[in-house]
Order: sequence, then C-alpha cells, then structure tokens
Amino acid sequence: MNRNRSAALYEASREVLPGGVNSPVRAFGSVGMPPIFAARAKGSRIVDADGNEYLDYISSWGPMILGHASSIVHQGVEEVFDAGISYGLPTGKELDLARLIRELYPAAEMIRMVNSGTEATMSAIRLARGFTGRDKILKFEGCYHGHYDGLLVKSGSGTLTFNTPTSKGLPKAMIQDTLVAQYNGVHELKDVFANMGDQIAAVILEPVAGNMGVVAPTKEFLQELERLTKENGALLIFDEVITGFRLGLEGAAGLFGMKPDLVCFGKIIGGGLPVGAYGGRREIMEHVSPLGGVYQAGTLSGNPLAMHLGWNLLNHLKADPGIYDRMEDMAKLLEAGLIDAATKAGVEITVNRIGGMLSPFMTVGPVTTFSQVMTSDTQQYEVFFKAMLEEGILLPPSQYEGWFLSASHSREDVQRTIQAAQIAFQQVK
Ligand code: PLP
Repeated sequence: MNRNRSAALYEASREVLPGGVNSPVRAFGSVGMPPIFAARAKGSRIVDADGNEYLDYISSWGPMILGHASSIVHQGVEEVFDAGISYGLPTGKELDLARLIRELYPAAEMIRMVNSGTEATMSAIRLARGFTGRDKILKFEGCYHGHYDGLLVKSGSGTLTFNTPTSKGLPKAMIQDTLVAQYNGVHELKDVFANMGDQIAAVILEPVAGNMGVVAPTKEFLQELERLTKENGALLIFDEVITGFRLGLEGAAGLFGMKPDLVCFGKIIGGGLPVGAYGGRREIMEHVSPLGGVYQAGTLSGNPLAMHLGWNLLNHLKADPGIYDRMEDMAKLLEAGLIDAATKAGVEITVNRIGGMLSPFMTVGPVTTFSQVMTSDTQQYEVFFKAMLEEGILLPPSQYEGWFLSASHSREDVQRTIQAAQIAFQQVK
C-alpha cells in the first residue's frame, strides 16, 4: 500500500507537534512504523490521506459505537451551529443529556459535565477527598484514568506502550497518596485495606480494564471491592469512560449488578466530540461547587454541540438496545475466527472478550492480571498488526489497547477480518 501522503504529513507534523501527534498512542510507536493519517470515515471504514480504505477497529478509541459519521448522531447539528455554540450560560441541552444518563445509569443520581475523561476522573478524586476528608486513593496497575498527575502512576494505555507507566514530571507530593495494587489481586486488596483502610478516600478502577488490553474483573475481586470500601468508609469509583454505554445501557455497573458511589464517563457520551462527566450519589455530588465546597469548573463544559451529539447517540441506544447483542454476536464471531486462525498457524494466543470489545494477547493465557498481560509477545503483535494493515484492517497500534466493534461492523466485515487474520498469523509464525 502506498502511504506517501501520510508519511509526508507525519514528517511535517513532527516539526510542529511533539512526536507528530496530539496523543501519544496515535504515533504507532510500538508497531515500528509511521502513523497513517485519517482523511475521512464512514460506518466501519476509514480512508487515509493516500486514499487507502481500512476496516476500523480503533473506533476513535471507543466513542464511535454507531460507526463513523453516523447520520443518527449528527442529526440536527446545523441547528445547533445556527443557534450559537457556546454561551457561558446553562442550556436545556445539558439538562437533557444529564437526565438521559441518569435514566439509563441510575447510580449517577446527579451529574456534572466536563470536557474529557481526564477531567472526569480528576474531579471525582477531588470530590471523594473533599467528601471523606481523607487523602489516599487506591488504583490498579495497568488501569489508565487519563493524565491527571495523581492517577498517572503505574498506568496503562500509551504510558505502557511507551514504557513510561509512571510519567516523569509528577511531583512527589502529588503521588505520595496514590496506592497501587494488582487488578484482580484480592489478597493485595485486603492487605491494603487492613493497613490503611481508614485513610483511603476512594478506590478507582476500570470495571473492565481496557487499557492493558481487555481484562475482565473476577467476581470475587468486585465483591471484595464493594465490601471493603463500604466497611472502611471509602468511596468506590467506577471509571466507565470506555465501558459506559459500551457494555450495555448501564455499562459495567449494569452488567455486574453493582452501584458505585461515583462514576466517570467520557467518549460515547459526546458522540465523538470532546466530553466527560462524573456523577454519583446525591449526598456526595452535593459537595460540588456551587452547592458545596469542592470546586470544579469549565468554560466549555456542557457545550451544546457535545450535549446534542451525546443525546442523539444515547437516545438511539436506548431505543434500540438490541445493538448490544448484535455487537456481541459479531465480536464472538471475530473471537472464534481469531482463535481458529492462530491455532491453524501454530501461534499461541488468548483472546479476552467482553461484549463488543476484545483483545488478542500473544500468549498461552489465561490473562486476568497485569503480570499475565506482560507475558504477551509484543513483537508478534507488531508483525500481526502490520500484516493486517496490508490486508486493509486497522487495529489498535498497541498490544495494550482494546479492539472496539461498532454497530456498523457487519458479518461480512468480520468475515473479511478473519480471512485477513488467517494470512496475518501465517506471517507471525
Ligand atoms: N479513563 C479511561 C478508562 C480511559 O480509557 C481514558 C482514555 O482513554 C480516560 C479515562 C481519559 O479520557 P480522555 O482521553 O478523554 O481524557
């Protein structure tokens, strides 16, 4: 495939943007090739700057659950533009989206809109500290919660891809209260609470990890989290920035029958525009300014465009919840096809899948902990990624990211992906 135009754009971008990108994982750094530059997209397809078309499993890292350039999501956007796109005053559109989120996700009794997932987690942590009067927070290795200093410790996603799981530039004072334990590590969790339970303001986790590749929680881990936070007066924060409205209308909370004290959203709730939100129990949320003394604000928070697209998207999911089963059926088909193709090629893989998100790990498995994630052969993933790209399939350019299906991925799309995988796994061996 000719990618001269992408290569030229990359060269020019590197001169003005660090690494040529505005978010590290877009740099394709761990798959040893320059990034492709997107020109346009529709449904399950992306076309790059050179006119090459790919079947897309990045899905903008999650938001594009109905596929790209969805007329359902974009409906009425001209009227929003015509009415003005930012006022510095509240609007009915914020109310509409907040009400819809609460209807679908009842644990979010009150909601504050922000502009990104990072802002959502950062604000939820501040609120938890303000509410409990405690400083310590507990997170899990390999979970990524955005780039807020206090959470950028032993994290996942691009930090793992670029081998900086704990970023430089974090003042000691900002991270001395961040405790880190193993995802699914029940004993460690009990130990942390036995030693410091009365100092912990909150435990934050991805209820299904998506930033070390996809790793589901065990039942015991979730039960212990619920019990220990409750018994110790710590808040349980679900970071559903990926899983919210992806694993079902009530996200991971609905899937596992849980009710977190606080929840963070992003991605899907803005339909592809910059957005985030945090919410939770009313008595906690009432501590947010101007009601309470926990300050948090945003010039463009709740902007009408993002609210409008988010409402269109969530309202469509609500009207057609069968989307989740259909997406899962396609993801199951893909999972089976990948396992079959790898086995025939003699490549060892373990596919973790939940709903419409999945990750193949190049290892024997099982993969339920961060340590097991790290046994995956990333060089094999690199070969696989490149071979798939040549076949017109765009995968996340890192082992440590989930593949996201959208409602626009058809059976034919998945079958084509499996055929490509049959060729690609032959090259991995
Ligand atoms: N939380 C999770 C689980 C995420 O996956 C991400 C981003 O990928 C974030 C938080 C941060 O969101 P944003 O990139 O919008 O700041």
